[in-house]
Amino acid sequence: MKYDFCIIGAGLAGLSLAKELSSLSNTKILVIDPLGIGKGASGSPIGLANPATGRYATKSWKAEESLNLLEENLEKVSSFSTEKIFSKSGIVRPAMDSKIAKRMKENVETSDWSDGSCKWLSEKELHNNFPDLFCIDGGVWVPSGMTVAIPKYLDALASYLKVSGVDFIEGINFDIRKLNNIWFLDLKSTNEIEANHIVITAGIKSTRYDFWKDLPLHPVKGQVAVFKTEQKFPYRSAISALGYFAGIDPYTFVAGSTYEHKFANEETDRKGLSYIEDRMLRVMPHMEGKYKLLEQWAGVRASTPDRKPFAGDHPHIEGCSILAGLGSKGLLYSSLLAKEFAHFLLDGTAISSEVSLNRFN
Ligand SMILES: Cc1cc2nc3c(=O)[nH]c(=O)nc-3n(C[C@H](O)[C@H](O)[C@H](O)COP(=O)(O)OP(=O)(O)OC[C@H]3O[C@@H](n4cnc5c(N)ncnc54)[C@H](O)[C@@H]3O)c2cc1C
Repeated sequence: MKYDFCIIGAGLAGLSLAKELSSLSNTKILVIDPLGIGKGASGSPIGLANPATGRYATKSWKAEESLNLLEENLEKVSSFSTEKIFSKSGIVRPAMDSKIAKRMKENVETSDWSDGSCKWLSEKELHNNFPDLFCIDGGVWVPSGMTVAIPKYLDALASYLKVSGVDFIEGINFDIRKLNNIWFLDLKSTNEIEANHIVITAGIKSTRYDFWKDLPLHPVKGQVAVFKTEQKFPYRSAISALGYFAGIDPYTFVAGSTYEHKFANEETDRKGLSYIEDRMLRVMPHMEGKYKLLEQWAGVRASTPDRKPFAGDHPHIEGCSILAGLGSKGLLYSSLLAKEFAHFLLDGTAISSEVSLNRFN
């Protein structure tokens, strides 16, 4: 089979890019993943699309645009899932001490948030809306924030792409070589694949490809825990403080996550669970003794020196590009990045300098 684009890696980056390329052009696209859809960092059971990020709720890069495009994509593919894939029920960010509260309040008041999309709540206002949540001096309320069941979103997105004519190969190993400006993917069990252009979207595994081995990607392991409760989980909105806590259904919620810069393996462990529980009970002390562990999950994020993703062409090899380094904001950024990158690949429109690969020598 011959393709215009072969996207290598079927996580948030790869599938979002396939969606943009297929809706903007008539090109023939293949998505290939040796493990399967969402088998990397995008396998996190829940992710928050949170535009007020970091300890002090700083407005993220192109916050509103990222959220709007993500929401459009979520809406578009929702009918391809029998389950709910996202909820736009907002995110609350209680301040854990008075220094954080002060910085958060300043950030909200000095950033150019569009009307009502992010606001400061006094301690009393926060407790009226989120009883029993620990906070000092108040917190930030982000009504536009979303909670997304990422694996369900990716399954729905893949179904949408298949109907739109994008081909998929999953769970098969392959070798890549280039001959006379054509890329060849040698698969053991299928006919040879040819592609004019390859795009690596393999998350932290992107540097396994020799031609990207010098990329400054840093692995950060994250663990989350899924808990069951006997009484309803008390909050519809997600909570982001010392991690994040968000309901999947009334009696199940996800708590995460760890940020492990040094780790011996990619598995979940008891230490990760204790870390998550400890932080969860500082934010929601009333949950003590009211939950049971259902499962744990771990994945490895690909972080970059300036914590911004990178998108671009290989400096020396033609027809070879990358979209990686989505770090801890991959869900939030995925749709916007994919749109910018698809335009770049199709008609050469410049990528925003903040995420362009050119910013690294
Ligand atoms: C615990 C945790 C919680 C998170 N929470 C949030 C959140 O709340 N909000 C948010 O915005 N972001 C969150 N993130 C970050 C987000 O999940 C990532 O930024 C995003 O998933 C990265 O997507 P990706 O497609 O670049 O990489 P990945 O999701 O890692 O996808 C890479 C794909 O490549 C495949 N692959 C592996 N090896 C190869 C190979 N050799 N060749 C080709 N393909 C290969 C994998 O199977 C995988 O499918 C979280 C991450 C973690 C780990």
